[in-house]
Amino acid sequence: MVEQSRRGVCLVISAPSGAGKSTIAQALRKADPTIFTSVSVTTRSPRPGEEEGVHYHFRDLETFRRMAAEGELLEWAEVFGRGYGTPRAPLEEALAAGRDVILDIDWQGYRLMRTAMPEDVVGLFVLPPSLEELESRLRGRNSDSDEEIAFRMKAALSEISHWPEFDYVLVNDDLNKAVEEARSVLVGSRLARARRRDVAALWPVAG
Ligand code: 5GP
Repeated sequence: MVEQSRRGVCLVISAPSGAGKSTIAQALRKADPTIFTSVSVTTRSPRPGEEEGVHYHFRDLETFRRMAAEGELLEWAEVFGRGYGTPRAPLEEALAAGRDVILDIDWQGYRLMRTAMPEDVVGLFVLPPSLEELESRLRGRNSDSDEEIAFRMKAALSEISHWPEFDYVLVNDDLNKAVEEARSVLVGSRLARARRRDVAALWPVAG
């Protein structure tokens, strides 16, 4: 049940590709269906199996720019030359209704979210266990050329260099452990004193 008087936590999870961020986010959502999933807007085209409104809202560049200009996006960024952004209204409604929100976005988006909603955002960075393991996970996905792998490694290392900006950092060397740790971050964040306006309304504070 969602507690009406509590404001939700906006947990931003960032990681390089290959660290397991989407799997962790999905596991958290599955275990707690009250968690709100923000569906980003993107200008890239759908990959096989991706559905409009489920994985992304797929929009052309003109529509994306208009949404950004009219303040419909809480944050937006260009990643690999494509536009990505977080729609404002559904996320604000969810937090106000006491639902926690998980955002699976990159470090640039995290930084902007922090500025946009400093009291709501908690940052969690997911690291792969080692450089070797990261490379093998990136290679394992498909049979891309060495050049393509080198490009992805460079992008991953650039994303990783931002881990010190986050509130929490976990190393994903065991998926079950990583999911448990991410869940602990969410539960701990719910209890942070600054977010307990529901308690403040009930209990006197020594003056
Ligand atoms: P992909 O195209 O593989 O789905 O995502 C590429 C990158 O864009 C990932 O790092 C993902 O986290 C990031 N991304 C997805 N949605 C958003 C968003 O709404 N805002 C920002 N800043 N990044 C996003």
